[in-house]
Amino acid sequence: MSRKDIKSMTLPEIKQEFAADGHAAFRALQVYHWLHRGVTSFDEMSDLSKAFRQQLAEKYTIANAVIEQKLESKLDDTIKYLFRLNDGEFVESVVMNYHHGRTICISTQVGCKMNCSFCATGKSGYSRNLAPSEMLAQIQSAQLDIGVRISNVVLMGMGEPLDNYDNVLRFLELVSSEEGLNIGMRHISLSTCGIVDKIYDLADKKLQLTLSVSLHAPNDEIRSRTMPVNHRWGVEELLKACRYYNKQTGRRISFEYAMISGVNDSDACARELAGRLKGTLSHVNLIPVNTVSGSGYKKSTTERLQKFTRILANSGITATVRRTLGSDINASCGQLRRRYQEEVADVESLHQK
Ligand code: SAH
Repeated sequence: MSRKDIKSMTLPEIKQEFAADGHAAFRALQVYHWLHRGVTSFDEMSDLSKAFRQQLAEKYTIANAVIEQKLESKLDDTIKYLFRLNDGEFVESVVMNYHHGRTICISTQVGCKMNCSFCATGKSGYSRNLAPSEMLAQIQSAQLDIGVRISNVVLMGMGEPLDNYDNVLRFLELVSSEEGLNIGMRHISLSTCGIVDKIYDLADKKLQLTLSVSLHAPNDEIRSRTMPVNHRWGVEELLKACRYYNKQTGRRISFEYAMISGVNDSDACARELAGRLKGTLSHVNLIPVNTVSGSGYKKSTTERLQKFTRILANSGITATVRRTLGSDINASCGQLRRRYQEEVADVESLHQK
């Protein structure tokens, strides 16, 4: 029988199972505390008897994220991690130091199916969903490594969170639990490329997290060229779902817009975007596109970014240009795993020669 992923279980679920297995009632909370402090084995649960630890190890596993590589920016305090999961897969996370505390950007899948043309993650293919425990493990490993509390989480690393909806929702419940990392929903952002049916489902949950939507284009013609998901749900359908999200949660949506020179950064694009966003509680985040090898895309110039921002502002749409952190360590996600895969492939092909 395969062992069960205990860190993906809620406290009530562990309580119930421990009761059924005849363990004392207080053991559940004791074990839960250990798990959420980030122990990597039952042996580290030092106040449990050896026999009990052994029983646990026979029935359950603990999902870990072991640091395979760590890159520290010399320009700011950004740290990028490449983590190895129990089955040998790799995911990336980035820790950023803001005035309001440490923020970690975590991955929700190994790879991604969405294939946005500007994104490095899609280029390395899709392998599998992450379990809730593996999302937690990224935060725990980073926090133990830096020795400072991580207070904010963004689900903006590798993968599409709403394509792994059930696990992501369970993760949100675990990470915000008082007995766990206790990171409140207002300190969590979830970024989606626009899986419309799941935006409706999430809206109905009425969580107080921040929803970021990767829009990146003002119309279907441009968006379908860069984001295949747009063939399934077009811009209007997406924005309608966003307005529903506004209504259900009372929360503003943060629209991500990667500025790609000559593709989506013209004055006409800015005006069209402003028109489209009228009536949506929104904030636009403009990000100079990160050049990914093989994409052929170039960053918009600073002047373009300023002009674009001004046009939006004149139409009453607030927009900010996102500060780039960790640019010397290639901090945007997807690039490290890809490079690592290429290196491993190189080594393997050397061995075959
Ligand atoms: N799948 C989710 C979350 C992961 S991507 C989503 O699509 O939102 C996190 C953010 O980085 C998204 O806004 C994505 O569009 C953006 N992104 C990906 N590649 C980028 C690049 N090369 N330059 C700038 N932003 C990029």
